Amino acid sequence: MDIAFIGLGTMGDPMVRNLLRAGHSVTVHNRTREKEQSLIAAGATAAESPKQAAAAAEIVITCVSDSPDVEAVILGESGVIHSDRPGTLVIDMSTISPEVTRRIAQALAKKEMRMIDAPVSGGSEGAQQGTLSIMVGGEAADVERAMPVLTAMGRTVTHVGPIGAGQTTKAINQIIVAGTYWSVAEGMSLGLKAGLDMEKVVQAVGSGAAGSWGLTNRSGNMIANNYPLGFRVRLHQKDLKIALDTARDLGLPLPMAAYVEQIENGLIARGYGDEDISAIARSVREPGGISDQPSGQPS
Ligand code: NAP
Repeated sequence: MDIAFIGLGTMGDPMVRNLLRAGHSVTVHNRTREKEQSLIAAGATAAESPKQAAAAAEIVITCVSDSPDVEAVILGESGVIHSDRPGTLVIDMSTISPEVTRRIAQALAKKEMRMIDAPVSGGSEGAQQGTLSIMVGGEAADVERAMPVLTAMGRTVTHVGPIGAGQTTKAINQIIVAGTYWSVAEGMSLGLKAGLDMEKVVQAVGSGAAGSWGLTNRSGNMIANNYPLGFRVRLHQKDLKIALDTARDLGLPLPMAAYVEQIENGLIARGYGDEDISAIARSVREPGGISDQPSGQPS
C-alpha cells in the first residue's frame, strides 16, 4: 500500500521501519528533515511537506507530539488536507485530545477525506518490535481499511468505538501508567533505603500480584537513577492533562492523576522534562536522601 508517514520521532521512526518490512511503500516527512535520512537508506522516499507526502498516498499516518501539532500537520498551510485527494484515510497515531480529534475529522470530511484515531501503548520497545497495543476510534469500514497497516506496527488492534474513542481509551491507559510508575518509584525507593538487593526484589515482586510493565521495564532506571528515553516526562504530563480535562468535562474527580501531573510539572520546571517518565522516581528518591546512591547500598 502507498503510505505517507509524518513525524519521525522515538515512535515514528521504528513504526516506519516496520511498515517497510511488511512491504508497504512509505513516503516520510519530518519537521527536522535530517531525521528522514536513515529511513531513506532503509527504503523510504522523502517529501518536503505533509501536503506533498500525502499527495501520493492512499493512507496518511501522523505521529507527532500534541493536539496543536496534529492540527498543524493536517490542517496547517502545507498540511495533509491540502493534498486534494478525496478518499484518503488519515490515521492519527499521536496521543492527543479526543475533542480536537473530532474537530480535525470534521474538517477532513468536508474534503471527502476520512480519519480514524489510533493512539498506541507499548513504549519505544513496542514500536521497535511491532508489538504496540493500538486503540482505534472511527467508522468500521475505515478501521477495516487500516487493518493491514495497523497490524504491521502492533500486535493488538482494538476498535473501541467512534472517532475520538481511541484517544479516550489512551487517556485511561495513561492514568493507569501514572499510578503504576508512581507505585514502582515508591517501592524501589523503599528497597534502596532498606539496603536490599534490588535485582532480587524486582524478581520477587514482579512474579506476584505487583507485576507490571513499568516494574519489569523501568524499575532498572529508577534503581540506577538514570532515565534514558523511553517516553518523555513532558509528553506524559500532556497525556494526563488530556485525561484530567476529559474527566472534568464529565464531572469525575481523578486525584491520583492530578497528583502525578503535578509531580511531572515540578520535574519539567527542574529541567527533567525530556527524561523518561520513570524519572518520577527522582521525586521520591531525593526527598528520601537517596539521590545518587548505587543499588543495594544502605543509606
Ligand atoms: P518525539 O520523539 O518527541 O517525536 C515527536 C515528533 O513529532 C518529531 O518527529 C517532531 O518533529 C514532530 N513534531 C512535533 N511537533 C510538530 C509540529 N508542530 N509540526 C511537525 N512535526 C512536529 O515523540 P514520540 O515519543 O515519538 O511520541 C509521538 C507521539 O506518540 C506523542 O503523541 C506521544 O505522546 C505518543 N506516544 C509515545 C510513546 C513513547 O514511548 N515515546 C508511547 C506511546 C505514545 P521534530 O523532529 O522536528 O521535533
